[in-house]
Amino acid sequence: MVYKKAPNPSGDVPDASGTPGHQSGPAAKERRYTGIGSSKGFAIGEAHEFVQEIIDHEIAELNERNIEEEIERFQAALNRSEKELKKIERVTTRKIGKLYSDLFQAQIMLLNDPVLIENITRRIREELKPAHLVIEQEFEQYLGNFIHSDDQIFRERAADLHDIKERIIRNLHIRKLHSWVPEGTIVVSHHLSPADIILLSRSNVKGFATDTGGKTSHVALICKSLNIPMVAGLGNFSQKIGSGMPVILDGTEGVIITEPDEQTIGEYQQKREDVIRREADDSALAHQNAFTRCGMRITVCSNIDFKEEIEHLEPTGSEGVGLFRTENLFLDDLKPPQESVQQEYYLEMAEMLSPKPLVIRLFDIGGDKLIYSPVKEPNPNLGWRGVRILIDVPEILDAQLRSIIKANLHGNVDLMIPMISSLEEIEHIKERLEHQYKRISEASHETIYKPGLGAMIEMPAAVELIDEITGMVDFISIGTNDLTQYTLAVDRNNLIVQDLFEKFHPAIIRQLYRIISTAQKNRCRATLCGDMGSDPLATPFLIGCGLREFSIVSSDIPALKARVANHSITECEALAAECIKLSSSQAIKARLEAFLKEH
Ligand code: PEP
Ligand code: MG
Repeated sequence: MVYKKAPNPSGDVPDASGTPGHQSGPAAKERRYTGIGSSKGFAIGEAHEFVQEIIDHEIAELNERNIEEEIERFQAALNRSEKELKKIERVTTRKIGKLYSDLFQAQIMLLNDPVLIENITRRIREELKPAHLVIEQEFEQYLGNFIHSDDQIFRERAADLHDIKERIIRNLHIRKLHSWVPEGTIVVSHHLSPADIILLSRSNVKGFATDTGGKTSHVALICKSLNIPMVAGLGNFSQKIGSGMPVILDGTEGVIITEPDEQTIGEYQQKREDVIRREADDSALAHQNAFTRCGMRITVCSNIDFKEEIEHLEPTGSEGVGLFRTENLFLDDLKPPQESVQQEYYLEMAEMLSPKPLVIRLFDIGGDKLIYSPVKEPNPNLGWRGVRILIDVPEILDAQLRSIIKANLHGNVDLMIPMISSLEEIEHIKERLEHQYKRISEASHETIYKPGLGAMIEMPAAVELIDEITGMVDFISIGTNDLTQYTLAVDRNNLIVQDLFEKFHPAIIRQLYRIISTAQKNRCRATLCGDMGSDPLATPFLIGCGLREFSIVSSDIPALKARVANHSITECEALAAECIKLSSSQAIKARLEAFLKEH
């Protein structure tokens, strides 16, 4: 079976954009499509339509020779189903108690019913029918008995039986994903996952264009980290393009041009050269420390997703890693990485960077990120994610804490907690960190430093608690991507509401002022690692609030350092005080634009 188009998990609306534009000249074939510029830069080249092939190794016809293979496939599906159910049972016990988890215990018992297994196995062998067909028929028969039973309990169990059947059939399909594209192409796809981006980027992909996604989706952030231009939210563009078609991808403006004419190609070659020249000018300054015009030192670190990015930090003038998104270590098989793997990975990073800092964020799984939850949640962004998973699954938390502590041989490693919404969550992680640190340092002959503890401020609840939080941790890091999402109730990946995802909304501007000034008052280090840190409009405002540390995508560091030198603290403070009194995003942006023109 081949899915031509992968499903669209973000639920984006097709054709919200991706509108074709001008044709230049009577015979010109050039077409322009507008989407969302998710990672800036330009690419000129050939398109490659990437489709994820999901191949089911299903045996079409059974015969004496492959019968045992089919029975093994059934057994393997039973084992996989049992493993899944046990995991759900464990998590349910932890989250809502034994009463509810008994339900899954009962499902496991039904799954292991020897009569059912025996009947299915015998019928596959005798009737030479594929497993999924026999399972359907056997369960139908069972279901009939349950539904028509006089016993209420049996009738209620019918739904469970249906779930088990679906689970076994799903697990019969062994999936194999193919991720391959020709070298140096511009990849066009309906949807791409973070894993796809990483795998495909190995083929020197020049740019990515997707029908789904937005500006701050995880995929967009990875493209920025890898410095690959991307246009997302193109509606149904992927259906209009064929492999080999010449295209220009403009990730800065969010435009894709198919079959460009000579003149357009010339314009874009010029744009590319201008960018290269500007980047060269900025990087001449990048190696110097950044100071405002009045001499205040501003630190600029990098947000990274993979260890491999560390090698590329040097030329950008990055002063360390302010955010390492560890959830990417889940990429390979969606299982938590082994403790030994993590430990080695973090240690190598810490050594590569030392004496520069490395801030490791604890796994921010769930939500729009990687799916850890074994149950399908109706609203994952408001569900089981970030620190909530870490608290509920102590094996994951403790293994990660131990790995981070053991990586801190040079004293340059800190850790931070994602998605904090209560003080108890910080207390819990703090207590686990103390406990693990005590055990490790007592058993070790080497000096092991305790990593500093930071809290991410990315939920309105954390803003309300900022006075207490800044008294509890060594530093805070402001995640403006999620702070905007949760404050404005605007899904950061939903195209329909992309226009409402406004980081210059007065509510966000006032929150930022409050967070940073409270941290300053409480002498708690504050840094900002959301996408807003790269926006030229935001720089003087944030400095005016009192921010002295930024962590942004590495490729934007030279430009930020260059901008800092244009501003003075007094001017920025006056600007920030003005902005928090303005009551619309337009007014705030207009004031910031005017300020940039003046300075
Ligand atoms: C944020 O939310 O701003 C942030 C930096 O974290 P992420 O983008 O990984 O959710
Ligand atoms: Mg976040």
